[in-house]
Amino acid sequence: MGKKDEVSNQFLQAIEFRGVNRRDFLKFCGATAALIGLSELHAPKIAAALEKAAKRPPVIWLNFASCSGCTEAFIKASYLTPADIILDLLSVDYNETIMAAAGHQVEEVLEKHKKTGGYILIVEGGVPTNKGFGMMGGKEMFEVLKEMAGPALAIVAVGSCAADGGVPAAKPNPANIIGTGQALERLGIKKPLINLDRCAQNPEYLVGVVVNYLLLEKLPDLDKLGRPMMYYGMTIHDNCERRAHFDAGRFVEKFGTKEEPLQYCLYKVGCKGPMTYSACWKIQDNARTSWCIKAGAPCLGCAERGWTDKFAGFYEPLPGVTIPGLGGVEAGADKLGAVAAVATAAGIAIHAVATKASGRTKGKDGGEK
Ligand code: SF4
Repeated sequence: MGKKDEVSNQFLQAIEFRGVNRRDFLKFCGATAALIGLSELHAPKIAAALEKAAKRPPVIWLNFASCSGCTEAFIKASYLTPADIILDLLSVDYNETIMAAAGHQVEEVLEKHKKTGGYILIVEGGVPTNKGFGMMGGKEMFEVLKEMAGPALAIVAVGSCAADGGVPAAKPNPANIIGTGQALERLGIKKPLINLDRCAQNPEYLVGVVVNYLLLEKLPDLDKLGRPMMYYGMTIHDNCERRAHFDAGRFVEKFGTKEEPLQYCLYKVGCKGPMTYSACWKIQDNARTSWCIKAGAPCLGCAERGWTDKFAGFYEPLPGVTIPGLGGVEAGADKLGAVAAVATAAGIAIHAVATKASGRTKGKDGGEK
C-alpha cells in the first residue's frame, strides 16, 4: 500500500473523538468496499480517500412533493454512525427542511449556486407538472428544477418520489407528478442521473455513491433505470433470510397466527420481495439494526417503479404473475406447501417470471435490456 493510501492515526483519532469507534469505522469501510466491488482489504484506502478528500463537494438538496422522509433518514442520527462520518463530507448548502435561514436568505443561496454551478443536485420528492400544485419561493417546482439542474455537475434522485413520483404520484395524481428523470427529459436537460429508489431512502446507498466517486473517481455502474447495480442488482427474494421457508412451503397464512412468531415466509400476506430489486436484506436500516422483513412486515416493493399502484393492495399476494405449470404465484405457493420437492425449481420460475414482469432481463452481452 502506497503512502497515498495510508490513513493517518490522527484521522482515526478524530473519528473516535466524534464518538465512532475506529474499528467499527474501518469495518464499515470494508463493507462499503465490498459493495462497490472491491476487496474488504480496501477499507484503509477508503478511509485514506475520505481523509484526503480536499474539497467538500457543494450539495443543493431540493425538496419537492414528498413527506421529507428522505431528509429525515439523512439527518436521523440520534447517535453518530460510520455512515454519518462519510456523509459529513458533503457540504449541504441548501435544504429547506433543515436550514436555519428562511425567505430571501435561502433564495440567495440558490441564486449564488445557480451562477457558480459545479454542485451536486440532490432531488427529494416528485415534480408536480400541473400549475399551482407545488411552489418554492413563488416559482413552480418544475421551474426550479429547470433552473438548478442545468448548472449541476450530476443529479441524485433520492427516494422513490424523486425517482418516479412515488406516493404523491399514486392514482389519481391530480398534480400530475412525475419523477426527476422524466422531468429532465421533458426539459431536454442531459446530466448524469443516479436514482436511489426506496421509500424512504437509505442514507447508506448515498454513502456508496460518494465513496465510489472518491475512490474510483467515477459514478457507479447503473441498471437501465439509472440505479446503482451494487444496490439494485438482485431481488430481495434471492437473498431473503426467510427464503428457506418459502422453498419449503412454510408461510405466514395471516397476521396473528402461530406461524408469525416462527418467522415463516411472508409471501401470502403480501410480500413483494420476489419482484423487488434492492439490497435492503444486506444494508438494512437504522445503522443496520433491522429491515422490513426481519421486523415481520412483508416487503411492499417500494424500490420498484410504480409500486404504489402496481403493488396495491399491499397485503395481498403478488397479482398477475403466471408461472408455467403452476398456474400463478398464488397457486404455486399453495402447491409448494404440499409438494416441497418442486419448491426450489418453482422459486426459480417465480424469479424468472417476476424478472420478466419487472422488465429486467439480461441481454446477450449480460447487460440489462
Ligand atoms: Fe422473503 Fe418475501 Fe421471498 Fe418470502 S416472499 S422469501 S418473505 S422475500
